[in-house]
Amino acid sequence: MTITTRFAPSPTGHLHVGNVRTALHNWLWAKRFGGRFLLRIDDTDLERSKEEYVTGIRADLAWLGIVPDGEERQSARFALYEAQFEALKAAGRVYACYETPEELDLRRKVLLGRGLPPVYERKDADAPVPEGRTPHWRFKLDHDALIQWEDMVRGHQKFDPKLLSDPVIRRADGSWLYMLPSTIDDVEMGVTDVVRGEDHVTNTATQIQMFTAMGAAPPRFAHEALLTGSEGKLSKRLGSLGMDAFREHGIEPMAVIALLARLGTSDPVEPFTDPQPLIDSIDFARFGRAPARFDEAELAQVNARILHQTPYEAVAERLPAGMSEAAWEAIRPNLERLSDAGDWWTIITGNVSATIDAEDRPFLSEAVQVADGLDWSGDVWPALTDALKASTGRKGKALFLPLRRALTGLDHGPDMKALLPLIGRERAVARLRASI
Ligand code: GLU
Repeated sequence: MTITTRFAPSPTGHLHVGNVRTALHNWLWAKRFGGRFLLRIDDTDLERSKEEYVTGIRADLAWLGIVPDGEERQSARFALYEAQFEALKAAGRVYACYETPEELDLRRKVLLGRGLPPVYERKDADAPVPEGRTPHWRFKLDHDALIQWEDMVRGHQKFDPKLLSDPVIRRADGSWLYMLPSTIDDVEMGVTDVVRGEDHVTNTATQIQMFTAMGAAPPRFAHEALLTGSEGKLSKRLGSLGMDAFREHGIEPMAVIALLARLGTSDPVEPFTDPQPLIDSIDFARFGRAPARFDEAELAQVNARILHQTPYEAVAERLPAGMSEAAWEAIRPNLERLSDAGDWWTIITGNVSATIDAEDRPFLSEAVQVADGLDWSGDVWPALTDALKASTGRKGKALFLPLRRALTGLDHGPDMKALLPLIGRERAVARLRASI
């Protein structure tokens, strides 16, 4: 059996972190078992589905490196849904209903008012059909078949079908609701494992009976606790924005992957530069039941930690023109985002302007002489500072800070030992001279 998972977004908006997390977990799980990960575009709602969102979903997954092994679109599969619908109708598992939304709402209120569960009440098969109404359609739950499954996250799940409403599967205009097409596709596409948010748990209960009604064994399920944002819910901030916004904020795709793979699990978030360790370690038993908190600050931190370990080859084409491997290695411990590399490159190769304290000028004047006389093919920073320490008696901050300031224009930054050879003799001497 090939483990097959699917990510099934409705193309009615861009992907936010919650969707991306679902896609990622489905992908990791399939990859862990050498299985297949499918992208299923749930575009049965032709009014609300937009092609630009389909394109955006594909682009975001590609950016993240989540590559589907196949793509399907529900809008191309209506004939299949129609055939199954007819078969279920013939088997007495789908029936016509005529209530208006207002009538249903009123009835729900009455039941709740009496302290009863607001479950849809079936009509007798021979009840009169209200005049002039076109039916919508419900799936008939088997009230005698207790619904149970072992959820990979939530453990044993049990539902009494008598306490569930028969789900509406098709509207009066013939359009499909999500429930039945999804089940048909899961059977048809050989989906073995369904990983989705816990907001789908009740859907799963009724879909399990649909699988059975179609003569298929239900897949395994993992229902994950939802994500919340830093301030309680995912709204307005990065958590509710699309991957474009992440890109613009300088977030690397691996930072999104590394954080979302482990958020809400008992495994630590680690700054992986490659997804393989995440593929090897995904395990739904390690997912917690409490909502996981998405925190932008944590994402920024993971992003920085990943950059600090990223090898030159992985980023070379995104670096400022001419930036060498040695320069990358010197500056990467100071990066929060890759775009900051440009600022450091200017500090190495461009013009810097420094504010120098008057009392440091004689010292820097001495530094010009020493720097000019050094052998620049060796370890030039220790040579410079050792010589100046000996000749001026300065040490610690008084020795290092004026040099750093004069040479970079800043009080902080990458290790001078790595930086100074990159700045090179000519620029270094000129910068020191300009500071006296
Ligand atoms: N299109 C559905 C959604 O986005 C898919 C749910 C599922 O994974 O079955 O909620």
